[in-house]
Amino acid sequence: MAMQNYFDYAATCPMSELSIRSYAKAASEYPFNPSSKHRGGREAHKALEEAREKCARVLSVMPEQLVFTSGATESISMVFESLLWQKKPGRVIISRIEHDAVKSFIPLLKEKGWDVVQLKAKDGIVKAEDVKAALTEETRLVSIMSVNNVNGAVEDVNAISAVIREYEKSLKHRIIFFSDSVQALGKVGLSLSESGIDAASFSAHKIGGPRGVGMLYVRKKELIRSLAPAGGQEGGMRGGTENLASIISFSDALEDIYHERAEKEKRMAALNKRLREGLSEAGLLINSPDGASPYILNVSSPLPSEVFTRMLDDRGFSVSSGSACSNNARKGENIIEVMGYGRERAMSSIRISMFDSTSEKEVEDLIATVKEMKSEF
Ligand code: PLP
Repeated sequence: MAMQNYFDYAATCPMSELSIRSYAKAASEYPFNPSSKHRGGREAHKALEEAREKCARVLSVMPEQLVFTSGATESISMVFESLLWQKKPGRVIISRIEHDAVKSFIPLLKEKGWDVVQLKAKDGIVKAEDVKAALTEETRLVSIMSVNNVNGAVEDVNAISAVIREYEKSLKHRIIFFSDSVQALGKVGLSLSESGIDAASFSAHKIGGPRGVGMLYVRKKELIRSLAPAGGQEGGMRGGTENLASIISFSDALEDIYHERAEKEKRMAALNKRLREGLSEAGLLINSPDGASPYILNVSSPLPSEVFTRMLDDRGFSVSSGSACSNNARKGENIIEVMGYGRERAMSSIRISMFDSTSEKEVEDLIATVKEMKSEF
């Protein structure tokens, strides 16, 4: 299927040529179980650890701080499920703009006696001072995403971790600061070692790697206790035979996305600026905050999201009327409404998301098409 005029990369980024080749090569080169002790198994294990080292090098962390999973949803689950090992329930602080993979833990935690506080995010931004005000002696976990998947808002994780670390000084236990960093990986500056983040989730299919593989970064393994250590794979954090070909392909996609990062960032910033200008001229309202990820632009038209999305689809442009993961369910809060915009504007919002492969021509064609559609608004 042609990839032209695809503007839904935040939902999934089709596998790059490089990661398809990497996957095929790894699948045929390493057909054995990395836990097997025979030669084939040992070679597979070596390749697994080399992939981990490659990811660690790119992210400037230590290989033992990375756990391969089946995707960000599983990485997030490991962090939240880990709370169930605690002898006593305490407080969990999250934001109202978290992905459903985080929010879906609220009912379980509440049922188990946890106090879940959801912070507001006016204009898409969670304020460090609101985190500070919500911290209590009982707080065990703070979960604030790095980049929002609907509007691209970049959260100030450094400021948030600073208030947590300051508060923690008076406590005997550590408060885990988890950040779902799926939409940040390779797209906005993210320094895991300097940010004070304890744990972060990543997904390969948002950066051109395969679906069904992801990563959990954990600063210190002791912070997270797995519910499924099974055969002890992944340092006892995630049992089960490793998806080696996908992991190797992910590590290559990761290295690739960080290649010539500065130039890519500059180019994406220019494309985003052009989109903002062009779509504003076409009569659309910009919902993404200033300083958002250049890869995601949320806008509202005078038409309901589904209608506008379908009209664009009819003209060959793929955009999203929300986050793909929540499109089916249509439940929960609308992120644009949480930002402080009215219901009507929220219900007419669409997400346009790009990747490094998005061309100037595609952006110009999208702007021209929306301008042509203006008479139908
Ligand atoms: N978190 C965010 C911010 C996302 O955008 C997504 C994907 O939509 C996920 C988590 C879930 O990722 P995965 O599909 O790897 O489970």
